[in-house]
Amino acid sequence: MITKKPLELYLHIPFCVRKCHYCDFPSSPTTPKEQRAYVEDLCHLIREQKTSKTHALSTIFVGGGTPSLLTAQEISSIFAAIRETFEVVRSGEITIEVNPGTVSKELLACYQELGINRLSIGLQSTNDDELKTLGRIHTYQDFLETYESCKEAGFKNVNVDLMFGIPGQTVSSWERSLRQIAELDPQHISAYSLIVEEGTKFSLMEQKGELILPSEDVEREMYKLTKNLLLEYGFHRYEISNYAKAGYECRHNLGYWQRKEYLGLGYQAASLIDETRFTTGGEPVVLSVKEQMEETMFLGLRMSCGVDKEAFFKKYGCTLDSVYGKVLEEFAQKELLINGNEKVYLTEKGLDLSNYVMSEFLLEDE
Ligand code: SF4
Repeated sequence: MITKKPLELYLHIPFCVRKCHYCDFPSSPTTPKEQRAYVEDLCHLIREQKTSKTHALSTIFVGGGTPSLLTAQEISSIFAAIRETFEVVRSGEITIEVNPGTVSKELLACYQELGINRLSIGLQSTNDDELKTLGRIHTYQDFLETYESCKEAGFKNVNVDLMFGIPGQTVSSWERSLRQIAELDPQHISAYSLIVEEGTKFSLMEQKGELILPSEDVEREMYKLTKNLLLEYGFHRYEISNYAKAGYECRHNLGYWQRKEYLGLGYQAASLIDETRFTTGGEPVVLSVKEQMEETMFLGLRMSCGVDKEAFFKKYGCTLDSVYGKVLEEFAQKELLINGNEKVYLTEKGLDLSNYVMSEFLLEDE
């Protein structure tokens, strides 16, 4: 029997009810007809994947956009295509992103039938004024109803996305959002800081001087508060912005940070297979060993468990210390990272300054 290699599958659903003011993800409003055509194309694309002969799916992530805008029939046809084409490993993690106000009890029952075992709910804030500022389509009450329905439908692995650094947000309103959600006892919380991306409504407002963001000091306070408060409720930080109850870390995202192979299908979705990166319809780029090592460090150091030295040696045939000795020593002295016998990982201080630390892991051209 041939043992298939593990593969993570990401499916992109680029539809949303309307565009949030901060969003630069590939997503936009659509018509039912366009949506149906997109799903048909996606099913076709799934069925023609040759990787199904060599790989079995260890995780599936249906992201967007707002995948919960797909009808039960549409999502069922996507899963039919997946299961006809790929072997899906037993106990594989299967996630779908849902937005409050877009998911009915019938749809949740359909997800259960399809074997979806993890939900990721985009909330961002429990404060309705902040939700309005962000241009979200829902209220906190809508979220509570969705959350309750998810639990009633039997989902036992639920993530809630939250955001800090929202215009008008104070430390105490961020604390309230965190506490209200932690008390609902989900298994996972993602807490991202708002980044003003080019091409978004917020970026235009910023150019006109109309966007008043919390100061850097306030944002740093929010960031620090997040970890301590969530720890109180039993969530540990396993990545810069991700917190989980033990055993509920998102396996799909861990795979990205550990540079496991993934296949992305759908509009602008990216893949990494055989050290080649490609997007749907784009030119493949074969990564050099130098680029692979750099990625191993940037991505690995995002995780609190850091980069495994033995895995590095097995992959590249040289020790991590022989490649990065100088920078490791310098940062260990500055207490930004721990260079242990088995692993290299960032300290709290290093995680706080992660952008600066990561930039030092770029290698010189040979
Ligand atoms: S719901 Fe998500 S993907 Fe859609 S516009 Fe808002 S932030 Fe972007």
